[in-house]
Amino acid sequence: MPVYILQVAVPSPLRKCLAYLPPKNCSMAQLIPGIRIQVPLRNRQVIGVLTALTQQTDYALDKLKTATALIDDKPLIPLSLMQLINWGSVYYQWPIGDAFSTALPALFRQGKPAVLATLKHWQLTESGWQIVPEELTRAPLQAKALKLLREQPTGLTKTVLHQAEIGSNILRSLLNKDWIKEVVVKPTRINQSLMPKQEKLALNPAQQQAVAEISAQLKQAKTFLLDGVTGSGKTEIYLQVIAEVIKHGQQALILVPEINLTPQTVERFRARFNIETVVLHSNLTDNQRLTAWLQAQTGAAPIVIGTRSAIFTPLAKPGIIIVDEEHDASFKQQDSFRYCARDLAVMRGKLENIPVVLGSATPCLESLNNALKGRYQHLTLPERAGNAKPPTFRALDLRGQVMQEGLSGTLLTVMEKHLKAGNQVLVFLNRRGYAPVLICHHCGWIAGCKHCSAHLTLHQNFLQCHHCASQQPIYRQCPSCQQTKLIPVGIGTQRIEKILETRFPKAGVLRIDRDSTRRKNAMETILHQINSQQKRILIGTQMLAKGHHFPHVTLVAILDTDAGLFSSDFRASEHLAQLLMQVAGRAGRAEKPGEVLLQTYHPEHPLLQILLTIGYLPFAKHALQERQMAQLPPFSHLALLRAEAMNQEMLQRFMQEICNFVLQQQLPIQLQGPVIAPLERKAGHYRMQLLFHALQRQTLNAGLKQIISHVEQHKASKKIRWSVDVDPINLF
Ligand code: ADP
Ligand code: ZN
Ligand code: ZN
Repeated sequence: MPVYILQVAVPSPLRKCLAYLPPKNCSMAQLIPGIRIQVPLRNRQVIGVLTALTQQTDYALDKLKTATALIDDKPLIPLSLMQLINWGSVYYQWPIGDAFSTALPALFRQGKPAVLATLKHWQLTESGWQIVPEELTRAPLQAKALKLLREQPTGLTKTVLHQAEIGSNILRSLLNKDWIKEVVVKPTRINQSLMPKQEKLALNPAQQQAVAEISAQLKQAKTFLLDGVTGSGKTEIYLQVIAEVIKHGQQALILVPEINLTPQTVERFRARFNIETVVLHSNLTDNQRLTAWLQAQTGAAPIVIGTRSAIFTPLAKPGIIIVDEEHDASFKQQDSFRYCARDLAVMRGKLENIPVVLGSATPCLESLNNALKGRYQHLTLPERAGNAKPPTFRALDLRGQVMQEGLSGTLLTVMEKHLKAGNQVLVFLNRRGYAPVLICHHCGWIAGCKHCSAHLTLHQNFLQCHHCASQQPIYRQCPSCQQTKLIPVGIGTQRIEKILETRFPKAGVLRIDRDSTRRKNAMETILHQINSQQKRILIGTQMLAKGHHFPHVTLVAILDTDAGLFSSDFRASEHLAQLLMQVAGRAGRAEKPGEVLLQTYHPEHPLLQILLTIGYLPFAKHALQERQMAQLPPFSHLALLRAEAMNQEMLQRFMQEICNFVLQQQLPIQLQGPVIAPLERKAGHYRMQLLFHALQRQTLNAGLKQIISHVEQHKASKKIRWSVDVDPINLF
């Protein structure tokens, strides 16, 4: 009988699977790739994933260790997902075992068995069914509970009932009267929601066409770019296509940007369908995450919504993947496994043989290029849905204007007009804190971070470095000249908040940035205050720019348009255009027309001109031509090697040595650098970077592989923190 060798992806920096002999007393039938397996690694026991069985290895058989035990009796990770993780590990040059770790919930990495916990449901008893809820006029909550339970004969969980304000005391009273009972149900039968099944909207012709095109091509690997202006009803298209998918007994996976995964977003999906919607976000407990993951894996949940990492959720019956706001930077992981969930989604669609819909009002240039080249099917929605009209844009020329701490007189007048009409105003400034710089009026000394080459941002009660997060008390005296006149320079959201509170005392000012939303559930409270119109002036950073639907906002004011106009990052203009269009998209989304004002010292700047007069798509096409001429992505491919160390000299030698290697080996890759990173020192470490550039993807990937294995052998590589970012989106 042949000896089978197990290839196991173990959590470690190794760039390949390790070979083991099967555990004692295990049958071949149990060895299915995708199961977890416990194996010895040095002197520890670790949990890995069986990726393949082979009959050969590079090692002598008698040197191989024997695996300790199988953890699963059937694959935890389906084959297509294994292929995706493998592909991601190769493409993003990330160790295979760590790529699997990223994909698995923490409890599974620790070896917890893959069984869905049973759920308890409350159901009506026979005598409970005899009661007419409407007659219980003196116990309205008991009546409500009975009514809800009549609508769900299979019963409801305590959690769902609590959400409907039916507390444990009510349940106890009903139990004492023998009207309800508790039963254990199998999780695969979960099929409940208190939300009434909402009727779908009548589609306009552009929406109809999009739904028809996608629905006609389900069950095949096809990528669509749903390119629709803000408020054009993309979500309604998702909902109707998902309805089709569910009708076929399949599941839908929806990826949304981090800050869009709000209860409101999820509610739109829950409200439409009377079925289980699983939500994967970073605030889940380990147990909740495991349950959600298994509900998707077993097919119990027809709809799965999540942020970036949800792309690794296994689906029993995959039907479609939707990536909403596909241009959003949060789809790219910015540390360790630097994958892009949008690109993985497209790959996953191919592996699963299902359609992928990328939706955005401001598609990224990569996706747009794919659509223009015919690789993706381009579906466009040029107009807003329903009665909403597009907002009008106006550049507010700041030259020579009297400014009140960042706000021009004209802007304040227009704000007043909108507030008087009972509407809401959104003021956008992408800089949190009170002021970005604290400066000595006497000698010009600037408060800087001790650990980074950066200024400290002044907050109301402290100074903070926005790069390493270190904090310190506000200086009362200049450390350089001992004078006491220290002045804040520049404006942040907190400063604007103060000014607007004074200027419009009755309007109610709400600040939405990372500082004001740190507490758990803070965003929910904030969205409630906005939608109930308790607050009528909203000041926000990019957190507020995307996806939200605020029907009463009629004016959007962008305070600091110029910040992005003159960056040296080749993607800066694309990002600025997306941000401006997205923020502008918050205006006038319902019956009331919207107005967008951009404060700028450069109203004639070509980027602003194109955007404001003809829109995002012409801008993006123009930008693509520029990229083509400069041979920049998507017409070439980039990878960025970042490195940092306490010892600057060692770091320089390390980087130079990598360059030498590329030149000696005559790798067909262009080098840019090494250069000192834009933030030269961070948290006490010196930082440098080296950009690799190639016209062919293949060339870049093959070269990177050689470079990485060379770097790993470098003796300094243990003392230097380094990483490779394939398709980096931030070069600075
Ligand atoms: P997007 O996701 O493209 O920004 P939404 O899906 O949020 O747009 O839709 C914007 C608004 O238009 C929502 O209030 C939605 O209910 C409404 N809407 C969408 N489609 C239609 C339609 N066919 N008829 C009427 N209203 C619609
Ligand atoms: Zn001074
Ligand atoms: Zn710092």
